[in-house]
Amino acid sequence: MDDRTYAVDAEPGETVTVAGWVHEIRDLGGIAFLILRDTTGKIQVTFEKDEMDEVLVETGLGVHRESVVAVTGAVKEEERAPTGVEVTPESVEVVAEADPELPLDPSGKVDADLSTRLDNRTLDLRKDEVKAVFEIRAEVLRAVREQFRELGCTEINTPKIVATGTEGGTELFPITYFGREAFMNQSPQLFKQLMVGSGLERVFEIGPIFRAEEHNTPRHLNEATSIDFESAFYDHTEAMDACEAVVRAAYEGVADNCADQLETLDLAGEFEVPDEPFLRLTYEEAIERINATGALDEQLVWGDDLPTEGEHALGEEVGQHYFITDWPSEIKPFYIKDHDDDPDLSTGFDMMHPTMELVSGGQREHRYDRLVDGFEQQGLDPEQFDYYTKMFRYGMPPHAGWGLGGERLVMTMLGLGNVREAVIFPRDRQRLSP
Ligand code: ATP
Ligand code: MG
Repeated sequence: MDDRTYAVDAEPGETVTVAGWVHEIRDLGGIAFLILRDTTGKIQVTFEKDEMDEVLVETGLGVHRESVVAVTGAVKEEERAPTGVEVTPESVEVVAEADPELPLDPSGKVDADLSTRLDNRTLDLRKDEVKAVFEIRAEVLRAVREQFRELGCTEINTPKIVATGTEGGTELFPITYFGREAFMNQSPQLFKQLMVGSGLERVFEIGPIFRAEEHNTPRHLNEATSIDFESAFYDHTEAMDACEAVVRAAYEGVADNCADQLETLDLAGEFEVPDEPFLRLTYEEAIERINATGALDEQLVWGDDLPTEGEHALGEEVGQHYFITDWPSEIKPFYIKDHDDDPDLSTGFDMMHPTMELVSGGQREHRYDRLVDGFEQQGLDPEQFDYYTKMFRYGMPPHAGWGLGGERLVMTMLGLGNVREAVIFPRDRQRLSP
């Protein structure tokens, strides 16, 4: 049972047991301080060497940094201490000794590169500014779940081991499944679509997606967290409304509940919930605006995918979250529905942060014959997707949805330089452990 007192709860006049990590020991000669850190903050333990028991002083000041200790003693006011109080120790117990050599300095006085930090995440997450990122990430997921609930969604969990991929064969991780070839799922796309035809109608999932991305970039992971939404009887514009609501709810949650963490990250002054509505640019307008910036050597033409430099130039101009709608059908996946009056134009959309893509979505093709044709056009064997297509013969309503990258949401929200900073244990081309 945890019957200790947390650092911030220690009040003058009481006797407490505080327990946590040895952040720092400062020896000034006759007087010395042990700064003890727990999840709430740092508390000063003061040793007056000449007046205290010798063994107590030796134990308290001889312990290595980052060891776990429990200190019992009286709390008194001390305005120069981090929490305005200090503990006068009556006993010090070394609960778990740390090696004197640390692979990483949690006090942050010595910088470590990202690779060393990721190799030693436990120690890395003892730093306030790293812990703050993951507390904010947790708040983002909480707020997003609450918003989905307000939208009338049911949370689902779909398989991550699958027989076939959906986005073409290249980005799949193959695995062996009882002697058969199987894959780690790239996206819950097909499963969530199957649920809009079920009694659930409107669903969301927050779960891992696996992509064997060829490139090592600051915004790609090989295992990412996808926030997925799908609703029966929605068209692409209603899906965009829901997307906007969810992203804004994430920001609102953080603004309302993470003031301390934003302060720790030096973002308190500048953090803003994005204004609604997000600008909705068509793909055609987007390429025109990118061409007009002069950022690209070659002008974009209809049908081109938007290169990263183009996205950046446009993002800088727009200056906040925005949608790109009405993409050419040929560069959107087969399950996206085309506009009824123009088969070359799809209802697919992307939602962009000024610096990168956060979301892809659209209205889905729910008509069986067209869906099967789409598979063939994409070079996929419809037979392999029979488990999916056959349900479109038994009453599949029109529907729309999207997928939002959880790590990219946190990364862009906090201005992190690398998406790996938004994952506790990232998976990339080099990194398979921890
Ligand atoms: P990109 O073009 O940026 O590689 P994508 O268009 O291939 O992304 P989608 O299949 O549209 O990705 O997935 C929807 C969202 O999931 C993306 O907008 C992004 O936020 C997130 N996402 C996809 N792949 C990754 C990845 N490898 N690492 C991190 N997030 C990802
Ligand atoms: Mg996309």
